[in-house]
Amino acid sequence: GDRITDPERQGDDYGEHALRPQTIADFTGQQSLRENLSVFIAAAKARAEPMDHVLFHGPPGLGKTTLAQIVARELGVGFRATSGPVLQRSGDLAAILTNLQPRDVLFVDEIHRLQPAIEETLYPAMEDFCLDLIIGEGPAARTVRIDIPPFTLIGATTRAGLLATPLRDRFGIPLRLIFYTAEELHGIVSRGARKLGFPLSEDGAMEIAKRSRGTPRIAGRLLRRVRDFAMVQGQDADRAMVDAALLRLEVDALGLDAMDRRYLRRIAEHHGGGPVGIETLSAALAEGRDTLEEVVEPFLIQEGLVLRTPRGRMLGEAGWRHLGLAPPASMVA
Ligand code: ADP
Repeated sequence: GDRITDPERQGDDYGEHALRPQTIADFTGQQSLRENLSVFIAAAKARAEPMDHVLFHGPPGLGKTTLAQIVARELGVGFRATSGPVLQRSGDLAAILTNLQPRDVLFVDEIHRLQPAIEETLYPAMEDFCLDLIIGEGPAARTVRIDIPPFTLIGATTRAGLLATPLRDRFGIPLRLIFYTAEELHGIVSRGARKLGFPLSEDGAMEIAKRSRGTPRIAGRLLRRVRDFAMVQGQDADRAMVDAALLRLEVDALGLDAMDRRYLRRIAEHHGGGPVGIETLSAALAEGRDTLEEVVEPFLIQEGLVLRTPRGRMLGEAGWRHLGLAPPASMVA
């Protein structure tokens, strides 16, 4: 999508690289995850062994790719990246695996989108550091097992539930990323502004932080757009300026954009607050079910704007109030 608050990567996000934290000490937030990861990194280094395979799961834009890069850097090993949809044939994966250096990190983004045949190739690679290659054709075909360098697979997914169980079970270190607090994002935005040489006031930074859907990628994007407005308008970037810029970008006080509001209003106005099935919403909003479930809903659910029930989505009390409507009496009681 082209939403300013889309947590997924977009074309103009090359600006992100300058802001990416390089070390685990630089990485704000995800505190318990970070502490655990530091232990596993230190232990692997002390044993001079590859670190166990890691699965990062959580909504887009929270730092899964960034953390994978940091792990490789802290381990002092090479980093190779690919993604589930990019790997089309088992041979593609075999070529990558045989070319790794011992203990390298292989990062597979969107690992829930791997082809089943490639998953099969991955199992012996993850478990025994070997590949089963088929040589020859027809009755003469036979399997040859070859060794590959021991490596660490770091998988990232927005939906751990979509991973095949045998694949999920092969990750010794599953780690879930959670949305960032406004205070954490404030730190990230302030540091980002300093790196960009952009004089942003403290309360201006806080305003961006509060309206970033708990997501560093969105915080970075809003920061760069606010900086554009401040520059072109020749204004000081204080809270009022930030507020005006975000208003023009249609990002509201909670950080919701037009798509989010359309989603909430649909449930309120066409379904009396729900429950309504996800397929119905997907058709009505002309937005893929996956996008709704992986990108739009997680933040709305975390904020209590939307409730996920066995019978479908319902507007939460906060959702009614955000639309300026009175929640049904049953909800307030
Ligand atoms: P994901 O892989 O989960 O979609 P990324 O690792 O690509 O997310 O992070 C998106 C961007 O957000 C990064 O380029 C980086 O600039 C920023 N970012 C993510 N996490 C942090 C953090 N903890 N501190 C500072 N910036 C971060």
